Amino acid sequence: MTPTTAGLPLGHRVPPFRRHDPAVAPIPVVLDSPHSGEHYPDDFDHLPAREEVRRAEDTHVARLWRGAPARGATLIEALFPRVYIDANRSIADVDPELLADPWPDPVAPSRKTEQGIGLVWRLARNGEPMYGRKLTAAEVRRRIDACYLPYHAAVAAALDERRREFGAVWHINCHSMPAVGDANADDPGRERADFVLGDRDGTTCDRAFTAFVAETLAGCGYDVAINDPYKGVELVRRHGRPADGRHSLQIEVNRALYMDEATLAPNAGYAKLEGDLARLIDAVAAFVRARI
Ligand SMILES: [Zn+2]
Repeated sequence: MTPTTAGLPLGHRVPPFRRHDPAVAPIPVVLDSPHSGEHYPDDFDHLPAREEVRRAEDTHVARLWRGAPARGATLIEALFPRVYIDANRSIADVDPELLADPWPDPVAPSRKTEQGIGLVWRLARNGEPMYGRKLTAAEVRRRIDACYLPYHAAVAAALDERRREFGAVWHINCHSMPAVGDANADDPGRERADFVLGDRDGTTCDRAFTAFVAETLAGCGYDVAINDPYKGVELVRRHGRPADGRHSLQIEVNRALYMDEATLAPNAGYAKLEGDLARLIDAVAAFVRARI
């Protein structure tokens, strides 16, 4: 799919997502990276310095998984920053404190919104306010229309295509996490495992898939936690319906494995992790081929 900027609001010089199609015969595996976008729209007038705001990104995550299309998987990559509008939140996770006027639709703020990290982030990772003003409901709506909805439509379309063709589809929702929980996390100050797999307590995919991914990563020498502290949020919740042959698993990679968390520069571990993720996709490909 060729990215296009046609129809984008002023200030958005890049499309909301890029779809990386398989370079070989497709397998029913779709990955998405909702939080690694680095293209900051001109109308994003955040207050903290850009370096601080960028610490919320899952920087490099789409690049780390770039071996997936070469193995037949499809990868959907968000290009907008997750703090501008977070594709891994419910569309009702609106923070009334952020708005200058009432939100016209039903609102269901989650714990993430209480923590300042809902659909539109109110706080930077260091706890500083993200804006020096209130946002209008209309501008939040524009972010939903320009970024959130097209991204969700792209992920849904890719999953539907493979589900239709193969009768089942395996979705890997790709993220990275700080090595230590910070102030607006559920586990402040705690050191994280190398990987955290989230299947919302066994509800978004066949438990055998979660166990297989955990065993494969453990076989590469990593320590792996399951549903602790991350269980998976909106994307796996929305798409994971194992009874319907739709298996969604969230994978969180510890950022210390691949980058300097202060500068966001790749570190000496980057190449090894990239190679191990490619081996994981090879293993997942064999796993799914045995089930279709
Ligand atoms: Zn993430």
